[in-house]
Amino acid sequence: MSTMGDGTRAVRAGLPEPEQYEPTLPGPVFAAHFHLSGEPTGPYTYGRDTNPTWTHLERAIGELEAPGETVETTVFASGMAAISSVLLSQVRSGDTVVLPDDGYQALPLVRQQLEAYGVEVRTAPTGGDAQLAVLEGARLLWIETPSNPGLDVCDLRRLIEAAHGAGVLVAVDNTLATPLGQRPLELGADFSVASDTKGMTGHGDILLGHVTCRDPELAAGVRRWRKVVGAIPGPMEAWLAHRSLATLELRIDRQCANALVLAEALGKRQEITGLRYPGLPTDPSYPVAVRQMRRFGSVVSFVLPDRAIAERFLAGLLLVDDATSFGGVRSTAERRARWGGDAVPEGFIRFSVGAEDADDLVADVERALDEATSRR
Ligand SMILES: *Cc1c(COP(=O)(O)O)cnc(C)c1O
Repeated sequence: MSTMGDGTRAVRAGLPEPEQYEPTLPGPVFAAHFHLSGEPTGPYTYGRDTNPTWTHLERAIGELEAPGETVETTVFASGMAAISSVLLSQVRSGDTVVLPDDGYQALPLVRQQLEAYGVEVRTAPTGGDAQLAVLEGARLLWIETPSNPGLDVCDLRRLIEAAHGAGVLVAVDNTLATPLGQRPLELGADFSVASDTKGMTGHGDILLGHVTCRDPELAAGVRRWRKVVGAIPGPMEAWLAHRSLATLELRIDRQCANALVLAEALGKRQEITGLRYPGLPTDPSYPVAVRQMRRFGSVVSFVLPDRAIAERFLAGLLLVDDATSFGGVRSTAERRARWGGDAVPEGFIRFSVGAEDADDLVADVERALDEATSRR
């Protein structure tokens, strides 16, 4: 299994053994309880603990996260549920956690919650491996690379080696890259965590998250947390996610190829500054990204001169929806400063590149840029 290509692995991931007259991917199992006589043991007892539809999806994600290895995946109702499960199952009052200060916009809320529980939180930027400097005495290091929305990249092997040398657990938020872009467990991480709301499911129609780890004890802590908090995915969402994984390689390859073409086109435009795409050989993230990533993601970011131009640009796009989130087959873009959480300029655009034809997309973007800047 570990020698297969990504496309083959994606279409077959998590399929059960063939059974005569059964579908290749069994349908969603809707059950709050299962027939259960005598001692309450066995795989399926109560629907908050386990569900066969989750099992298929969890196996599929595990095969993508760590091909050929035995790992354990736990799926959640959202990416935030997955993130919380790692932090809150591993960290106690008096512990120290290191977070990135340029990561996902809900991390400041996570920080507040951890501090309210008596956990010390330190932060440092993703770029320049700056988290290395604040590891001393920590219980857990949280990494997000490429970071969202700034697209900085840190050296995973280097940070993980230093953390483990100091007895620090490492979790990597792999949302932006997906396992086809980067496999944190192979680079040594203890937890690979993601919002599967984004590229993993790729259609912008479900919320989901997962945690994958190698160590059964760490995995048990995460599973126990899901049972306690009840942040469980619905069977329909889990099944749709599994169905969506079959096209993961097709979607990600197309979207990453489009992202590079768009980034190259944007690089030629006068009105754009701060262009970032980790797969662009001139990008500051590229030298590290190329050593640990196999695909560079579908998000491109750049800065337009001011808020008014950025808003005109977004309004003028015909093939790109003005919407948040990223990783879907339909391109979206947004002016990130409208949320107020990220430290970005007013004209900062986060562009999520979809699976359209690259020529159409570039033409739409160039036209919208021309129109947005000519009306000054
Ligand atoms: C979206 C996102 C999350 C949160 O995921 P939800 O599914 O919205 O809960 C976490 N981390 C990153 C990097 C994200 O982009």
